[in-house]
Amino acid sequence: MLEIKNLHARIAEDGTEIINGLNLTVKAGEVAAIMGPNGSGKSTLSYVLAGRDDYEVTEGDILYNGESILEMDPAERASAGLFLAFQYPVEIPGVATMQFLKVALNEQRKARGEDELTTPDFIKKVREAAGTLGVEMEMLKRPLNVGFSGGEKKRAEILQMKLLEPKLCVLDETDSGLDIDALKIVADGVNALRSPDRAVIVITHYQRLLEYIVPDTVHVLSKGRIVKTGDKSLALELEAKGYTDIIAEAA
Ligand code: ADP
Ligand code: MG
Ligand code: MG
Repeated sequence: MLEIKNLHARIAEDGTEIINGLNLTVKAGEVAAIMGPNGSGKSTLSYVLAGRDDYEVTEGDILYNGESILEMDPAERASAGLFLAFQYPVEIPGVATMQFLKVALNEQRKARGEDELTTPDFIKKVREAAGTLGVEMEMLKRPLNVGFSGGEKKRAEILQMKLLEPKLCVLDETDSGLDIDALKIVADGVNALRSPDRAVIVITHYQRLLEYIVPDTVHVLSKGRIVKTGDKSLALELEAKGYTDIIAEAA
């Protein structure tokens, strides 16, 4: 489903290379974890996948279902089924969360040649999804992410994901700012989306989230490239030995 080949990417503004020959393959149905120390390029990778224009790909390719997405803008990537839950969700004053969700969902339906949802159908869909994630409808009347706690922002991201039913989900440190109860709810939300035709990439610094979202594969990111790949036991090994030793061994 996703094949990243020898990817090099840099910050457009100053040319600093952050992603440095990264290779990664994720199959449909797979849950892959990417773990790495702070500053290893985890968030940068998610921005590059999303197509943010502050980053330039200078070498390599990103294939999604066998086709390069490098020339696609962020909206096209989203319509094609890519979803990114960011580490720091953007606050949008003046746009009620509910309104944002409605536009996002209907834009996606339009792109797929489907009819827009009627308001009652939309509300029903949101109510169901919000209920399973423990999100209060009251919260959805507030402007998107404005004044949301860390946990509320992460839940709002997972709610968007649930509604949009993407094919490839990338979750960047969704566990940060969540207490244990919220972590379980979010993990349940992600687990409910697991299916043979969908892939999930869970980016995390800590092993804890992976107790709840059990990955098929674990990849270690260091200095902008994947230096080690294993199964879920690699996450435990990282927890026990620490990044420094594992990365040194891999080198
Ligand atoms: P991680 O998510 O693994 O903590 P990041 O992708 O956020 O890592 O950052 C990787 C490196 O790139 C860090 O050294 C960070 O300071 C740098 N970096 C990322 N984006 C920018 C930017 N827009 N301007 C300057 N430095 C950046
Ligand atoms: Mg970081
Ligand atoms: Mg990060």
